[in-house]
Amino acid sequence: MIIKFKKNTLENSLERLKNWLLNADIEFKEVILNGIVHIITSSGWKDVAALADYREIIDTIIDFDTEYQISTRKYQQNNTVINLGDDLVFGANKTIMMAGPCAVESEDQVMRTAEFLSEKCNIKVFRAGAYKPRTSPYTFQGLEEKGLKILDKVRNEFGMKIITEVKDNSHLDEVADCADIIQIGTKSMYIFNLLSRCGRINKPVLLKRAFMATIKEFLQAADFILSNGNPNVILCERGIRTFEPQTRFSLDVCSTALLKEISHLPIVLDPSHAMGRAAQVPLVGQAAAAMEVDGLLIETHPNPSEAKSDKNQALSFEQFEKMMNKLKPICKSIKRQLV
Ligand code: PEP
Ligand code: MN
Repeated sequence: MIIKFKKNTLENSLERLKNWLLNADIEFKEVILNGIVHIITSSGWKDVAALADYREIIDTIIDFDTEYQISTRKYQQNNTVINLGDDLVFGANKTIMMAGPCAVESEDQVMRTAEFLSEKCNIKVFRAGAYKPRTSPYTFQGLEEKGLKILDKVRNEFGMKIITEVKDNSHLDEVADCADIIQIGTKSMYIFNLLSRCGRINKPVLLKRAFMATIKEFLQAADFILSNGNPNVILCERGIRTFEPQTRFSLDVCSTALLKEISHLPIVLDPSHAMGRAAQVPLVGQAAAAMEVDGLLIETHPNPSEAKSDKNQALSFEQFEKMMNKLKPICKSIKRQLV
């Protein structure tokens, strides 16, 4: 249950209510979101009558049957809008293309990619990981801080916004300093103290669905960030693991359709990691764009066969440009601006 308090609620009335909940042994979390105090209990507690004495400080009480709460349209009917400036608005009839290589490998590789994306394709958000959460300990793990410095150069030279991933809390501050959007990868969706710390940072967070997470677990992870005070969360469906080994994952468009109804958070799709094969990524990209989502994540590399991570799914520049030409009319037909 969410108890949302009126603005300027008196501290001592709130303390009285919190003490009452503590004495009654009712678990709750105090959340300050957009400057407003909320007390959130688990979905099991529904004793609204017990709050009668506190009605004058309470704005609304929202009852839930689900454990995810703040991320739902029951809490907030209207879309969350995240404005990065420069036409980049999530949650507002735009499809924002976030493109770049899987990993920052070198200054030359990154700057060549950024130059192509920015100058040839007018892409405004550059994606690349400096901290790579790899499944094998023997493969390239990222350039770390050196990689972040290269991403700073992309911003300075091309004016692009940067989305880059955080693996764990050890380097969150460095990533947050560099990123315009912090990405939490599929394997990190369950690192709850990372989610909580990202909730205390004043930067948008793109949360990827763990490849074995249910919709419930995905939204609970989003609630971890939201309930720590950060309202700017973007959901990313990047494919779930199914019985089919010939595609890397299965892009769960059904969940995407449902999430658009259940949640007010922007949602983006990642055809690259779902498909895992460059030749088919553009076609999946077309389907993804038609889903009326807020953005797409696509991997591209100046020389895909030499990419240090995710080489099978990286589009060549030629493939990327062709794909963009197919996406434009699709976005136009659904009245979305492809940015
Ligand atoms: C990535 O975006 O390069 C990445 C590692 O994605 P995921 O966490 O979805 O595997
Ligand atoms: Mn990748």
